[in-house]
Amino acid sequence: MSKFHSTVSRRDFMKGLGLAGAGLGAAAATTPVFHDLDELISAGDVKSDPMANFKRPWWITEREFKNPTTEIDWSILQAWDWNYEPSGTNDWHPRFGTLKPELCPDTALRQRVEEGMAIHAEFAARVTSFNDQQWNAQAPGWALRDKALSTGAGYLSFGRGLAPVPFEGNRVTTPEERGVPKWTGTPEEATNMLRTAAHYYGSAKIGVVEHDADTKKMFYPNGVRFEGIDQAYQDGGVSVIPNKCQWSAYFTSRDSDEGKKRDETSQSGISRYVWGPIIHGRVQSFVKSLGYQMPKAGAMNVPMSVLSGNGELGRSSKTITPEWGAFGGYAPGMVTDLPLAPTKPIDAGIWKFCKACKLCGEICQETTGTSSIPLETEPTWEIDSPCNRVGVKKYHQKWLTCIGFGCGVNYCDKVCPFSTKGKGFASAHELVKATVGTTSIFNGFFTTMGKAFYGAPSQPRDEKDFADFWEHDLNAWPYDTILGAGSGPNGGR
Ligand code: SF4
Ligand code: SF4
Repeated sequence: MSKFHSTVSRRDFMKGLGLAGAGLGAAAATTPVFHDLDELISAGDVKSDPMANFKRPWWITEREFKNPTTEIDWSILQAWDWNYEPSGTNDWHPRFGTLKPELCPDTALRQRVEEGMAIHAEFAARVTSFNDQQWNAQAPGWALRDKALSTGAGYLSFGRGLAPVPFEGNRVTTPEERGVPKWTGTPEEATNMLRTAAHYYGSAKIGVVEHDADTKKMFYPNGVRFEGIDQAYQDGGVSVIPNKCQWSAYFTSRDSDEGKKRDETSQSGISRYVWGPIIHGRVQSFVKSLGYQMPKAGAMNVPMSVLSGNGELGRSSKTITPEWGAFGGYAPGMVTDLPLAPTKPIDAGIWKFCKACKLCGEICQETTGTSSIPLETEPTWEIDSPCNRVGVKKYHQKWLTCIGFGCGVNYCDKVCPFSTKGKGFASAHELVKATVGTTSIFNGFFTTMGKAFYGAPSQPRDEKDFADFWEHDLNAWPYDTILGAGSGPNGGR
């Protein structure tokens, strides 16, 4: 290693690259001296800018911490959970297992809960019947190999896992066992390093939130408890987290355009929930190997993704990212005591765009009849039901009827103009995004254009489309547009 440890000035380095010259002038005379190659490599922004290795286009601006484009009143915002008395959701929430509407104290609300449950049940029956028919008819996308693909994708998949990722991660050799000190660096360097590792493991990008009394409200109170302890542990269903785990990171796990087209067939199993837990497991091992904790416990991914600048909140109550729209919206998180530099909320013009664009709400009405996404132009502080969080001025989702809970169809994601279906016209799409990020005066026009040209991605429906899946060119991996587009090591970029 000693040959790497030489003293080299920036001028020497530039000279080596053939870039030194009179033009460097006074700047060159005062440039810092690097003492070894490690220092040289990590010089520049990496030690001081948490976004150094994920630069975004000029039209995406950063905002202040805890001040995303969606207005929040932190003084009234409270922690929220599915089955949590202070949220007013106790025992009757359709998403929660107890399903006891009779326990809902409010008559009008109870009626809505019962209606929501009926819609969910009716939809689930329709999906089961559709799936059975497709399988029995051996429709395209329902061959045995397609079924097997979906089954294989279930391994470790969120919600379908054949084996859970361990709470504390897998066993690794710690720095202590290696007889070396734990890794140290600036918090900014740590954030960039974590992003690099996570990207390699399959996450398109990351965001980081520092915990304080406000941001801790985004953790499920029934699931996570912070205490003045040294080591994280599980107390029944509750993850008990040391206060020194002052940061959490949110790892974007993408959907692919092609995979979304194949929804409602057995070829749709390759998606965000398949990659998320695997990214978690790998990142956990990485952080533990550096000498720090990263227990499997994070806050609600949408609010934290928005607060950490992965994307903006959309009308559809999803994280809409400037890069991949709703298809980049899932970013499960984990807490850590590795000191990280937080990343800021962003403004890419998305929240403003949602005022004019109502495509997600309209497609929800057309396809499901449930009207779960409000169509009003202005957001509101008024919640729809206790299923919404108080203290956020937004388009409060009508969760009682949103069948996405049970079926995962998510038409609202597919129709969002920021999702990547514009890929075929990439440069035009980027121009539109840049315009949206700069001014809102064309938003109505772009919405009309989006409706005319895109609509929801259509299903491949003939034999050839589904057979092509099994015959596509694997030389393209990891830049694959079908399998790994969401989350291959290049993050699909
Ligand atoms: S997931 Fe989206 S499209 Fe489906 S019911 Fe819910 S809001 Fe509507
Ligand atoms: S479809 Fe339109 S309104 Fe809905 S989240 Fe996307 S941009 Fe916003």
